[in-house]
Amino acid sequence: MNQPLQTLAGWGGYPKQEARLLRPLARGACAAQLAQAAGVTPRGMGRSYGDSANGATVLQTTALDHFIAFDPVAGSLTVEAGITLREILKLVVRQGWFLPVTPGTAHVTVAARSRATYMGKITTLRERSRNMSQQ
Ligand SMILES: Cc1cc2nc3c(=O)[nH]c(=O)nc-3n(C[C@H](O)[C@H](O)[C@H](O)COP(=O)(O)OP(=O)(O)OC[C@H]3O[C@@H](n4cnc5c(N)ncnc54)[C@H](O)[C@@H]3O)c2cc1C
Repeated sequence: MNQPLQTLAGWGGYPKQEARLLRPLARGACAAQLAQAAGVTPRGMGRSYGDSANGATVLQTTALDHFIAFDPVAGSLTVEAGITLREILKLVVRQGWFLPVTPGTAHVTVAARSRATYMGKITTLRERSRNMSQQ
């Protein structure tokens, strides 16, 4: 827990905040760091416009970026929290699937994207060809 302080900001660059940045490389390490630290702010790619991913102690999940399971028939995908929509799309578009809702950039993590309820939640993938034929 003796990480040096780093200056963090969101996409807008303001406000900036000095933070102790935790960056676990695996889920087990993530759980251990969460258990040790109090008042941790989770952070993905830091692409939110304001200060929602700033804090005194920030746990950045971008190294937790692995696929866990993908069923291309059912369109069901299980991933780690820090994977980006870009990496997901690189896999699923080839198989004829697309995410139900995407923001203006794919360089955001799935966890932050799911947390932003104003954009909906990723619960299932959507079959792109079916959507297109319905339009
Ligand atoms: C160019 C650009 C275009 C955009 N277009 C749109 C758009 O069209 N529509 C739209 O709605 N938004 C849009 N956004 C905003 C962006 O999609 C969201 O702010 C997104 O949530 C940022 O993801 P991130 O991984 O960078 O999250 P961060 O900025 O790192 O974090 C965002 C929030 O998620 C929380 N969080 C992060 N990781 C976790 C985790 N593992 N567990 C729990 N909580 C977590 C953070 O604490 C914070 O509250 C855009 C942003 C940019 C830069």
